[in-house]
Amino acid sequence: MSKVYNFSAGPAVLPHEVLLEAQGEMLDWHGSGMSVMEMSHRGKEFMEIIHQAEQDLRSLMNIPSNYRVLFLQGGASMQFSMVPLNLLGDRASVDVVNTGHWSKLAIKEARRYAGVNVVASSEDRNFTYVPASETWQRDPQAAYLHFTSNETIGGVQFSTFPEPEGEIPLVCDMSSDFLSREIDVSRFGLIYAGAQKNIGPSGLTLVIVREDLLDRAQPQIPTMMSYRVHADADSMYNTPATYPIYIAGLVFKWLKAQGGVRAMEARNEEKAGLLYHAIEQSGGFYHCPVEVAFRSRMNVVFRLRDESLEEAFVAGARAAGLVQLKGHRAVGGMRASIYNAMPLEGVKALVSYMLEFARQHG
Ligand code: PMP
Repeated sequence: MSKVYNFSAGPAVLPHEVLLEAQGEMLDWHGSGMSVMEMSHRGKEFMEIIHQAEQDLRSLMNIPSNYRVLFLQGGASMQFSMVPLNLLGDRASVDVVNTGHWSKLAIKEARRYAGVNVVASSEDRNFTYVPASETWQRDPQAAYLHFTSNETIGGVQFSTFPEPEGEIPLVCDMSSDFLSREIDVSRFGLIYAGAQKNIGPSGLTLVIVREDLLDRAQPQIPTMMSYRVHADADSMYNTPATYPIYIAGLVFKWLKAQGGVRAMEARNEEKAGLLYHAIEQSGGFYHCPVEVAFRSRMNVVFRLRDESLEEAFVAGARAAGLVQLKGHRAVGGMRASIYNAMPLEGVKALVSYMLEFARQHG
């Protein structure tokens, strides 16, 4: 078997133990005589799988009982439409923080349905920081405040979360740092995340929504876009993404066995710390454009002083079994995505490679 350390931003590395477990159960899930892929989503076996996955997620994140967990499809991108269609209510506009690529797409889509007030933007310094919340121009009449807790391409992460103001719910795209650090769900109105980074395979999108927000949808909303419809049907209005839900359930079980989100957070800080330290100690050979306070623990972006060496850096890394280090095509450079499932050894291997490459080319 050939095994590499996979630094892809998503779909991304999954815990090796989870893949082995899925392999062992591939043909016969718990004596059912069939694969999870072949099961009716309404049968008792799959019902057990989805209920257990929800229970485990609730305990991992301490999700209060007045929040619903929805297992949806359409990716985080579909939430860019579902959020305004469901939550605008009788308000005219929504507040949004613009910290980069994914914020901009959320803003673009929300503008189709609502007025969008950009309360703050870090575009002035090429999205390398999060504007201080005291400077945000918030609208007391906004339907909600939307932000992206971790910009997967820019490598910029909120270090603290905004305070909810009055009755205005906080809505967060947590796609790339979901389950990576402890959060207080009760401070949010709605959290969403595509699965393919910290949760499981692509094809599944998780939404955690406070119950009182389920009835603000526009009357013409397509049935499949309505949180109320999916909540009332326990995510079974239509056929859900059964296999990704099953794998997500295995990942949640794995996370619990690792010590839960608190243990993951400590490990994630250690991993990110090693990489940023290597960048800082390279005497300028490598550099990270993001301001120190907002450097992502999930997506570490960096460049070489001599950008003409970047192709050789990526090729050499690939030859050493360190794959998917090329930055997003929109920004170039390098990006190491080090989600929960990336082992410490993978990060150590990358750091050793970086030191050796700098020694050879510095
Ligand atoms: N938001 C963030 C922060 C993301 O990283 C991504 C995907 N990389 C998306 C939204 C879009 O997700 P999807 O491809 O699941 O629609």
